[in-house]
Amino acid sequence: MKEIEFYDAAKETMPVKERERFLNEQLREIVNYAYDNAPAVKEKMDRVGVTPSQIVTVRDLEKMPITRKDDFSELQKLNPPFGGFLGVPEIREIFVSPGPIYEPEIPEAQYVAAAKAFYAAGFRKGDRAIVTVSFHMVLAGPHLAGALRRLGITIIATGVGNTELQLQIMRDLKVTGYAGTPSFLMILIKRAEELGYNFRRDFELRHALLGAEMLPEALRRTFEQDYGINAQQIYSTGELMLLGYECSQKSGWHIPEEVLIEIVDHETGKQLPPGEVGEIMVTPFNKIFPLIRYGTGDLSSIITEPCPCGRTSPRLTGLLGRIGEEVKVRGMFVHPRQVKEVMAKFDQIAQFQVKVGRREQRDEITINLELKDVTIDKQQLTNDLAKAFQDVCRVKADKIEFVTKGTIPEEHKVIVDERTWE
Ligand SMILES: [Zn+2]
Repeated sequence: MKEIEFYDAAKETMPVKERERFLNEQLREIVNYAYDNAPAVKEKMDRVGVTPSQIVTVRDLEKMPITRKDDFSELQKLNPPFGGFLGVPEIREIFVSPGPIYEPEIPEAQYVAAAKAFYAAGFRKGDRAIVTVSFHMVLAGPHLAGALRRLGITIIATGVGNTELQLQIMRDLKVTGYAGTPSFLMILIKRAEELGYNFRRDFELRHALLGAEMLPEALRRTFEQDYGINAQQIYSTGELMLLGYECSQKSGWHIPEEVLIEIVDHETGKQLPPGEVGEIMVTPFNKIFPLIRYGTGDLSSIITEPCPCGRTSPRLTGLLGRIGEEVKVRGMFVHPRQVKEVMAKFDQIAQFQVKVGRREQRDEITINLELKDVTIDKQQLTNDLAKAFQDVCRVKADKIEFVTKGTIPEEHKVIVDERTWE
């Protein structure tokens, strides 16, 4: 990675122990800074009697109250325009996210974070990239464009829409990179085909950095195998900016060194061990807008095993949904999306539903299945499914039952909680 001078690539591969030390140092610095400069942070720490000197390691963050995304617009109304979270006396730009939520300018560190994402996705100096996200009000466009510019990539700030004009620009300017949503990339490709082009042959597009929506694996394969476009995802939000990016392994999102992420039980605020599903809680190392312990409401889990790419940062396992959709079973959150991920591995299954009941003071998971072909080896499927379920959901299914076609209603919840608590 030595050809980049703009950011210190060595940081991405620093040894795990050093990373731990680095994060703790950054944490102490931002907490001290925020306490002295952002009134809302001082207020929230004083409220529970925590002082900056008590926050020494990541573990200590549990002492800090959570600020929730869902309350943030309200907090800003009470204390406009930034809810007391502005950490600097002067700013040069203000962005507006839906809500409205007001966000001060993008810190330099966040351009670095996004540059890491583009670099990991194969973007290099000499590329020409269209940035097809909004440049009005929100910071998405300026953020991504700024990161590309810093990598020496030529940008064309095309923004949202104008499908045919975008195609013409891509042809005229020999565009090699795309930043935007997966769905808009597909719209561009389909429109090009309707216009009689062979996308792979007639366009130069080779790298795509995708965000703001889920990227189903089937769609990624289509981009890569049918159209020759390497597709990698990012995870970002308006207030926090870049929180994760895929590397060439495409198995989880590396957390950039510019933020600290905890996965917590959203009911207790306690940190959860790797593999367990909880809320993504973020502390960005951003002195302009130091949102300490900011709850996104998004669910994920963390992988700490080393990644073959050489980056030593932990990875998020992707977005597993939002708070409120998941069901807590034997102390573990199970989300409908995890169940769907398991079932997608088995072609034989026509319909499925997970029921959570209670028997002798213990949660009991029953999986109901309708099969496409009832003559298949049910025992084999039971064994394979039980294993896959436990691997992904981290809890064991107690029963797998085969039901006749039509038992599971057409419109149904993936997980039904049948427990009563009397
Ligand atoms: Zn990696």
